[in-house]
Amino acid sequence: MIDEPSGRRTHRRTGHDTASETSGGGAALTEGDARAALMREVDRLLEAHFGPLDPRPSAPPLDVLVQTILSQNTTDTNTRRAFRNLRAAFPTWSLVRDAPASAIEDAIRSAGLARTKAPRIRRILRALDAAGDPTLASLSQMGDGAALAYLESFTGVGPKTARCVLLFALGRDVFPIDTHILRILRRLGALPPDVGAARAHREVVALVPRGRAYALHLRLIALGRRVCRPAKPSCGECPLRAACAHAKPDARP
Ligand code: SF4
Repeated sequence: MIDEPSGRRTHRRTGHDTASETSGGGAALTEGDARAALMREVDRLLEAHFGPLDPRPSAPPLDVLVQTILSQNTTDTNTRRAFRNLRAAFPTWSLVRDAPASAIEDAIRSAGLARTKAPRIRRILRALDAAGDPTLASLSQMGDGAALAYLESFTGVGPKTARCVLLFALGRDVFPIDTHILRILRRLGALPPDVGAARAHREVVALVPRGRAYALHLRLIALGRRVCRPAKPSCGECPLRAACAHAKPDARP
């Protein structure tokens, strides 16, 4: 899961060095240990900075899947509007499944890429149930691995979308990585700078503290939107600057 074998000792100077924990009496950390310690520190700093989370909403897994597909390459506002329009035009998922693609496109146009997203959504609905109202209720009977593999078998459903369904609809402790989170984890030194999304999803399993996926996911996205922006990160006002490998030198406390 990491570049070096798990038992190999390393002490590369990165943001890991700022994490306060060491493994066993001050011995050098393995790189995997150091990255996991960094993520625990990030979790702690973000919780202190952002405070308590709002109550966790719940929604059926199929609703979350469709919303996440709609959200690809657009804003939250456009996603919400498209989902509302879709449910207003087609109150049941079987009506969406049986509708012409052009009618679905019209309903979701505010989310953009409607000509790609409409047939993608309809194809998934048709694969779920040929007779009754389509549902993803069977996911609750599956373990995380089986549920992710099942969701990722649909065209247009990648690791992030599948994990969003498990995290937000089923309350599973899995960690979706969007563009904000990938950028921040690379800058922090928690993931290699050239890592892609698929490998990042595999590697991060060993890094996110148990039970903390939901809180870390939401808070890192908030940080990516407000502080660690793509072009001009505001390191001077970042709660993670003391732990970050790429903090600008003049931003370090
Ligand atoms: S210190 Fe700067 S680069 Fe590091 S996470 Fe914060 S804003 Fe991003």
